[in-house]
Amino acid sequence: MDFSKQKKGTTAIWAGETDSFYQGATTAPIVNSVAFSYHDLDEWYDVATGKSSGHIYSRNTNPTVHVLEEKIRILESAEAATSFATGMGAISNTLFSLLGPGKRVVSIKDTYGGTSRLFLDFLPAYQISVTLCETGNHEAMEAEIAKGCDLVYLETPTNPTLKVVDLKRLAEAAKKAGAIVVVDNTFATPINQNPLKLGADLVLHSATKFLCGHSDAMGGVLCGKKELVEKVFRFREINGASLQAEPAYLIARGMKTLELRIERQNASALKIARHLKAHPSVADVFYPGLESHPGHEIAAAQMSGFGGVLSFSLKGSYDTVKTFLTSLKFVHLAASLGSVSTLAGPPRTTSHVELTEAQRAQLGIPESLIRYSVGIENVEDLMADLDQALAAVEAAHPVEKTV
Ligand SMILES: *Cc1c(COP(=O)(O)O)cnc(C)c1O
Repeated sequence: MDFSKQKKGTTAIWAGETDSFYQGATTAPIVNSVAFSYHDLDEWYDVATGKSSGHIYSRNTNPTVHVLEEKIRILESAEAATSFATGMGAISNTLFSLLGPGKRVVSIKDTYGGTSRLFLDFLPAYQISVTLCETGNHEAMEAEIAKGCDLVYLETPTNPTLKVVDLKRLAEAAKKAGAIVVVDNTFATPINQNPLKLGADLVLHSATKFLCGHSDAMGGVLCGKKELVEKVFRFREINGASLQAEPAYLIARGMKTLELRIERQNASALKIARHLKAHPSVADVFYPGLESHPGHEIAAAQMSGFGGVLSFSLKGSYDTVKTFLTSLKFVHLAASLGSVSTLAGPPRTTSHVELTEAQRAQLGIPESLIRYSVGIENVEDLMADLDQALAAVEAAHPVEKTV
């Protein structure tokens, strides 16, 4: 079915689900079958050799998983899509299947923690060279890309300080150098940002986060140019980092409310960011929706909403963070993001735990930083919760407040 005229909220529900399912089921069944049988050997052969469509073995493809892949493919306006057991499965499969000895990657210093581990520890062992530029320094990136590279890997907004990079500008630089552009779109989601429309060749997501939306399933998706997606799929079907039917079902189910959730999270995060910005106990707020954010103009041009994650630092030491976080009532102190329930934590113990205090400072991550992933709770309740926790900080650390 052609979804080109439909809005994203409609597409998220119907994509992959317009055919009738088993016994007229109105939702995609969870097909917990390892293999798929054929009465006709010639038909089996045609499916096995890709001449006709169908499923053979669930490490390769599965009907429930296919529904999810169709949803993300159409929401990102991509030619093709495939999926993985986790977001890191999507990222490592993409990098390892498109790169090899002698190849060069240009990326940013602020990629997701697991991704930067791939760049710093694993790719160099395969003679793949990696150059990580200062996030947001577009001139430096353009200069590095122009030196010659095979793949430009981008992420925007970044974790945890919500830095923004200009996708269109860097995709143009990459095109000139003949490099493939890959974008991690996890923070923005396809509701807020479509990197393929800005010149990227491939876009990937940790489906564990906003796409699933309920913190109860893990997955990863990749979509974009058919030839490139197929190359990554060929590697994934052999190395086996495949998504299973049950998490695929949960993620596809979560995606039906993606637009509703993201619209609410965009609005709540902006309101909370403005509220915190005006609070005397808060030192700094990082959210691309704030006019004071250095990436605001680029974000406003390439995103239709600024997302559900913000971060902020408190005046005072790490002890104020401890008091603040443990005083919050409507939050899980946990490592993930993008759920219906609000999640928060300090990068010091989550995404950037392996770095020293000096390395965190270099990335512009204050020790008193808090990442706050806004859920879909009522925003008045969340703001009241933040206010009472800030009051608890003021009561417990009256001197540090003025530091
Ligand atoms: C969580 C996350 C990942 C990794 O995804 P997993 O599903 O945890 O493997 C990659 N990129 C970003 C931006 C993330 O937030």
